[in-house]
Amino acid sequence: MSLQRLCVLGATGSIGASTLDVVARHPERYRIFALSGHRRLNELADLCRRFQPVYAAVPDQASADCLAGLLRGAEMLPEILVGEGGLEAIAAHPQVDTVMAAIVGAAGLKPTLAAVKAGKRVLLANKEALVMSGALFIEAVQASGATLLPIDSEHNAIFQCLADPATPGLARKGVRRILLTASGGPFRETPAEQLVEVTPDQACAHPKWSMGRKISVDSATLMNKGLELIEACWLFEATPEQVEVVIHPQSVIHSLVDYVDGSVLAQLGNPDMRTPIAHALAWPERIDSGVTALDLFEIGRLEFERPDEARFPCLRLAREAAQAGGCMPATLNAANEVAVEAFLAGQLGFTEIPQLIESVLKGVEPGPAADLDAVFAADNTARQLAREWLARR
Ligand code: NAD
Ligand code: MG
Repeated sequence: MSLQRLCVLGATGSIGASTLDVVARHPERYRIFALSGHRRLNELADLCRRFQPVYAAVPDQASADCLAGLLRGAEMLPEILVGEGGLEAIAAHPQVDTVMAAIVGAAGLKPTLAAVKAGKRVLLANKEALVMSGALFIEAVQASGATLLPIDSEHNAIFQCLADPATPGLARKGVRRILLTASGGPFRETPAEQLVEVTPDQACAHPKWSMGRKISVDSATLMNKGLELIEACWLFEATPEQVEVVIHPQSVIHSLVDYVDGSVLAQLGNPDMRTPIAHALAWPERIDSGVTALDLFEIGRLEFERPDEARFPCLRLAREAAQAGGCMPATLNAANEVAVEAFLAGQLGFTEIPQLIESVLKGVEPGPAADLDAVFAADNTARQLAREWLARR
C-alpha cells in the first residue's frame, strides 16, 4: 500500500477536523502534505504542529506573518503560501495525491478546480463549487481523469448505492430516481408565523449534525437540500425531476436509489461525517472511521414526510434554478451566500432569506455558463443585486 499525500483545503473547519480525525487513525496510509485555513490562525498553527505539513496556505501576508510567529520554535516549519494562488498551488502540487475540498462557499471554486485540472483524487465537500460551475466542473473532471468522490453524506450514500458508478447515465444503470433525504433541520415542526422570529443561534443548533455556521443556516432554510439537489444532478447525470427530496428526521438513512425493477437501495449509518470521509479516502477499500456501530434497536423507528415548500421556499427556488440551468445556479448560490451572511450578522430575518434570493433570481436574465468568467460574472451581479436589496428594504 502506497502512502497517500493529502492536501486539506479548509482544514480549520468542521469537515477539516473530521478529515484530520480519520487521517490520524491511519498514519501508515495518509500523510498530510498541505493544509489551508482562513481566519482561525491559532487553530491552523496547532494543526501544523501536530501534522507537520510541507505547506500551509493562508489568505494574506499579515496572516502568513502571524502564523510564522505562532509557529516559532516548532519542530518542522511549513512553507507558508498566501492568497488564492497559494490555495491553487497546494491543490495542484505534483506531490499531492488527494485533495479534500472543504472550503465553504464560492471561495472554494478556483482551488477545487485547480485540484480537478491537475487530475487529483478530489474529495468534494464544497458543494457550492459544483453548484456554481456545473458542466464546466464535470467536463474538467473528464478531461483530466481526476477521481471525484462525494463527501456530502447524501451523495456519498447515493454513490455507494449505485451498482456501477462508472456506467454513464442513470437510465443505463437501471435507476428510476434518486431519493435525497433531509433531516428537515431545526424548524421542521415550527409554524410559519414563528419562523419570522428565528435567531442565528437557533438556526445553527442542528438536531442531528454539528457543522459550520453557513451550512447550518442552509439546513434550516432547506437551501442546503436545494444545493444538494443541483449537486446530485451534476454528480449522477440526473434531471431535477429524477431527484425527490424526502424528509427523514432520524438522519439514519443518508439517501436511497430507486431502480426500475422496484429495488430500493439505501445507505444507513450514524450521522457522523467521518463515515463518508473515510469511505472516500479509502475507496474502493474500507477503513475504520471511528464512528460507532449503528444500533437499530436504539433508533427504533424511521420516519418519512414530504417537504413543506410553503414554509421552506428555498427548495423550490433551487429546483427552479436547476431547471433554468446556465448561470442560474451560480446566481442562486451567490444570493444565498449574501443572505446567510446578513442573517448571521443580524441584518436580515430568517424568512427574508428566500425573499432576497427570489428577488435576485427574478432580476437577472438566464445566460449560459459558457466559461468560468461567465460564472463569476453571474456571481458578482447576484451579490450586487442582493446588497442593493438589503440596502433598500
Ligand atoms: P466551516 O465553516 O466549519 O469551515 C470552512 C473552512 O473554509 C474553514 O477552514 C475556513 O477557514 C475556510 N474558509 C472560509 N472562508 C474561506 C475563504 N474565503 N477562503 C478560503 N478558505 C475559507 O464549514 P464546514 O461545515 O466544514 O463546511 C465546509 C464545506 O463542506 C461547505 O461547502 C459545506 O457545505 C460542506 N459540507 C459540510 C458538512 C458538515 O457536516 N460540516 C456536510 C456536508 C457538506
Ligand atoms: Mg448533506
